[in-house]
Amino acid sequence: MKQSILVTGGAGYIGSHTTLALLEAGHDVIVLDNLANSSQESLRRVERICGKTATFIEGDIRDRELLDSIFARHSIQAVLHFAGLKAVGESVQQPLAYYENNVSGSIVLFQAMAAANVFNLVFSSSATVYGEPKEMPISESCPTGTPTNPYGRSKLMVEEILRDLAISESRWSIALLRYFNPVGAHVSGLIGEDPNGIPNNLVPYISQVAVGKLQQLSVYGNDYPTIDGTGVRDYIHVIDLANGHLKALNVIIESTGINTWNLGTGQGYSVLQMISAFEQAANVEVPYAVVARRSGDIAECWADPKKAIQELGWKTQHNLEDMMRDTWRWQQKNPNGFGK
Ligand code: NAD
Ligand code: UDP
Repeated sequence: MKQSILVTGGAGYIGSHTTLALLEAGHDVIVLDNLANSSQESLRRVERICGKTATFIEGDIRDRELLDSIFARHSIQAVLHFAGLKAVGESVQQPLAYYENNVSGSIVLFQAMAAANVFNLVFSSSATVYGEPKEMPISESCPTGTPTNPYGRSKLMVEEILRDLAISESRWSIALLRYFNPVGAHVSGLIGEDPNGIPNNLVPYISQVAVGKLQQLSVYGNDYPTIDGTGVRDYIHVIDLANGHLKALNVIIESTGINTWNLGTGQGYSVLQMISAFEQAANVEVPYAVVARRSGDIAECWADPKKAIQELGWKTQHNLEDMMRDTWRWQQKNPNGFGK
């Protein structure tokens, strides 16, 4: 039987771009997604781009019977685990839904993997696990902090569960990938980020203002100790992020143990710099007003990506202009996203 990669949450934003990269690299891909925050249209578009098809299974990572049947029917070499809920504000309102999906769901998945003797795992973690960073840039040796919301805590909990697992059973080979701020879209404009309702994140918000769906951007605070007073983040193109998964996959398949890698560019940009870069790339004006700080936000956060560069042989290839141009192309071609 040909070996496959199981991608949980593969219909979502980062999962669909990674599914595309896997198919393009010649992997056989099975996507498991309950479509809670996505549409199968993303996978049809992936097929249009590369001419190859991922097997799609609509279902939930919390469904142990379904997982057992997937592992029984297919020869799975590794799991890329993207599935989960990710809206920070919603996680404060509905902590149990977040812990159930992100933590309990992950436990069910890991149990099913162990029962099927599948021990290669790439987990979608987040820079949010560093909490309020004490120094910049953030390297993997910086201690994890106290995430300010249930979403962030759910990521840290799963990381800790995976560390315990790796100690308990030496066959596990695990990559904890800590993403910084994923933005952008595939250059075709066929797949991209399709947030539900009003976006929480900066770049989708800016592009919806630019396309006329929203009136103006609120800039959350201009009194931070940063270059221009607005928050600074490390934005990474989703294609670079997807490639980081392929590199991590190659490494874990050849080794065992658990490793953490930051996936960021190493370069921080402020909110005002992001607005101006978008305006230049799209040639549109983005009206904004400065409002109060958003609770839970930190002043600045950017990665030291050296470890991933050295150990994964990975390097980002897209700059800020690419991120903005590709976001804008996706937004213009799909003003209503996938229409989910
Ligand atoms: P997304 O919402 O677009 O993708 C997540 C996918 O998982 C969706 O397709 C959703 O339908 C699916 N899903 C959710 N719960 C599920 C369940 N119980 N069973 C099966 N499928 C389920 O989000 P994304 O931006 O692509 O993020 C992917 C992963 O990366 C998530 O784990 C997220 O927490 C993590 N992450 C994202 C960011 C970011 O800014 N986008 C940053 C750091 C980490
Ligand atoms: N931000 C903003 N207005 C928005 C959304 C975000 O000013 O409508 C700021 C936010 O305060 C932060 C930066 O943009 O400084 C990135 O925020 P985002 O929510 O995209 O990512 P995260 O907070 O997870 O790093």
